[in-house]
Amino acid sequence: MNAQSLFASAAINIGLSLFLLSLFSILKKYSSNSFIYYARRLSKHENIHFSPTFSFSSLLPSVSWIPRAFRVSEDEILQNSGLDALVVIRLFKLGIKFFLSCSVVGLFILLPVNYTSQKGPSRSSLSHSMDSFTISNIERGSNRLWVHFACLCIISFNGMYLLHKEYNEILVRGSQHLRTIKHRPDQFTILVREIPFCSEHKARGCCVDHFFSKLHPYTYQSHQMVYNGKIIEDLLRQEKSLSRKVEDLRLRSMTEKHSKKSKLFSLFQGSSEEVGEQEKRLQELCHKIRNLRRGNVLKQRELPVAFVSFKSRWGTALAAQSQHHENPLLWITELAPEPRDVLWKNLSIPYRQFPLYKLGGFLAASLLTIFFALPVTAVQGIAKFESLKKWFPPAMAVQLIPGLSSIVTGYLPSLILNMFIYVVPFAMLSLATQGGFVSRSRKEIKACSMVFYFLVGNVFFLSLLSGSLLEQIGESFIHPKDFPSHLAGAVSAQADFFMTYILTDGLSGFSLEVLQPGLMVLDFLRSHTLGRGEEENPYLFSMPYYRVIPFVSVSMLIGMIYAVIAPLLLPFLIGYFYLGYVVWVNQIQDVYDIVYETCGEYWPHIHHYIFTAMILMQITMIGMFGLKSKPAASIATIPLFLITLLFNEYCKIRFLPTFSNFPVQNALENDKCDERNGLTEVEHENKIDAYLQPCMRPINFSPRESSSTQPLVSVST
Ligand SMILES: [Zn+2]
Repeated sequence: MNAQSLFASAAINIGLSLFLLSLFSILKKYSSNSFIYYARRLSKHENIHFSPTFSFSSLLPSVSWIPRAFRVSEDEILQNSGLDALVVIRLFKLGIKFFLSCSVVGLFILLPVNYTSQKGPSRSSLSHSMDSFTISNIERGSNRLWVHFACLCIISFNGMYLLHKEYNEILVRGSQHLRTIKHRPDQFTILVREIPFCSEHKARGCCVDHFFSKLHPYTYQSHQMVYNGKIIEDLLRQEKSLSRKVEDLRLRSMTEKHSKKSKLFSLFQGSSEEVGEQEKRLQELCHKIRNLRRGNVLKQRELPVAFVSFKSRWGTALAAQSQHHENPLLWITELAPEPRDVLWKNLSIPYRQFPLYKLGGFLAASLLTIFFALPVTAVQGIAKFESLKKWFPPAMAVQLIPGLSSIVTGYLPSLILNMFIYVVPFAMLSLATQGGFVSRSRKEIKACSMVFYFLVGNVFFLSLLSGSLLEQIGESFIHPKDFPSHLAGAVSAQADFFMTYILTDGLSGFSLEVLQPGLMVLDFLRSHTLGRGEEENPYLFSMPYYRVIPFVSVSMLIGMIYAVIAPLLLPFLIGYFYLGYVVWVNQIQDVYDIVYETCGEYWPHIHHYIFTAMILMQITMIGMFGLKSKPAASIATIPLFLITLLFNEYCKIRFLPTFSNFPVQNALENDKCDERNGLTEVEHENKIDAYLQPCMRPINFSPRESSSTQPLVSVST
């Protein structure tokens, strides 16, 4: 790829994203689009101000949403959307901070060193003009490579410092946030699995009661068994559709009575009889459901899983984090997920089968990663202009129009790649669904990691090795020692491609995210075919962490690897992170719904992604110094590599446990705080009710039957 293609790609991306962003700023001004652009605010019944009269200014693009996004403070995000949303924003901020400092090093030290090297001015051909700014301009064995080594050290230590600081701050914020949400039921509840069967009472519920009142006599409060609710769920679904039908029929017969044109409506004469018939069916169904929910019938459907609540957080923390039985496969306890976060269906999976589910998920994800590689390499290979001419001779015509070939070679490959990987997060999420996780948050965190490693494999490594893929992989297997030098060679050859990738993923990707073209089309189709319906609901979706975090982390990885090799990439990354910050603050504030709160459990994963990036950067540089015949610099990088590994181990010990556990001291402090404020145990008594399974929750059968609203299942036996 030459400089022309790169500029063509940059021009297309910048033009496209300016167009999309201005379109967004215009469309946002119309109240008819508020169901898309203010979905979250509308769902919270917030008032949004639109100018009531049509004016010329509403046709002009504006940038007012950009400074607004910068004005939103971290505390505001924490308060409105929770710590997980804040973690995403902090990731963008970390990217800005890190690449700003890298840019200073890169543009003021590395760029002049590269450009003024001996090889530089002699080679003036346009096709290699980008090379004179990169490390490939440095002569083999030159002492200038020590400057690169020094910069690598500066960037690595700066990265470690920022990562440590960030981890610490998120930890502090996490424990502060835990205090503000301390009345949530999950702070008093644990999830117990593998409850043994009591042969005397032919049930498991009584076991739970005996066991916990014996082991935690002062703190145990009550429990809620989990049942196999498949049959009841089916019946409830039938009941729902039937009651809707009855409601429809009633409405129709009402209008018939009030209408004087009875002749026209004589078609519905039999409707009142039909109403009666359907109501009878409905009552039978309700009776059936009620029978199934009776104590003795339910006992047969008990799963070996229960939610157990305690009187204090202190008791909860102790019970959740200790081994209760000699056999560690019995009475397994953990902190309960939030009630809204629980995946009830997966609670029926036996605990002993989890390794199988995990293995299955891993295999499926690996297969997807490997088989995805084939179409991507094929299409990308064809998209390279030289091969395109071979495969599709009419493409020669492209050459006749000046400038078009640079567009084809500069823009097409990264466009195709981005289109292919758009579907990946959704595919990975559906694979993670098969993993048997007990909560939605854990499932999405898993999907997040799967997408990240997929992108590292298929975007990063594949783009590096495309061309002679199999040969190179084969060689790295035969001579693993040569891996760094292969990597370094490929990395320096692909700098331009990744520059266009960052441009496409950043500029076009973020602009499309904020414009939501899919929803616009859907809304348009719905309003023109079905009609808007009597009441329109906002298009509310949950925050797609698994779509943001991996992509941003991969951009960070690309930026880190090129920080020393091709510092010209760094300013693009700063732009990438600024645009991402603005877009996602807007999306978090206005568009996406927050459906769970893990108190920052995403951060340890993000930390690991960035650490992976740092390790890859150092391996590449070891290879690069080797390629440049400077073995001393290669060897000098190895201690840096070891320090980075040690740093990661330290972070694992220092920070990671607090994210997965609930420190007993904090729990006690929060309890004491409650006591001082005069809150007593009575207030926590109904916490366990939040963990009633959806199919066991009382429902309003129909307006005429008010008797059925009483709870149908008692909590204790
Ligand atoms: Zn018993």
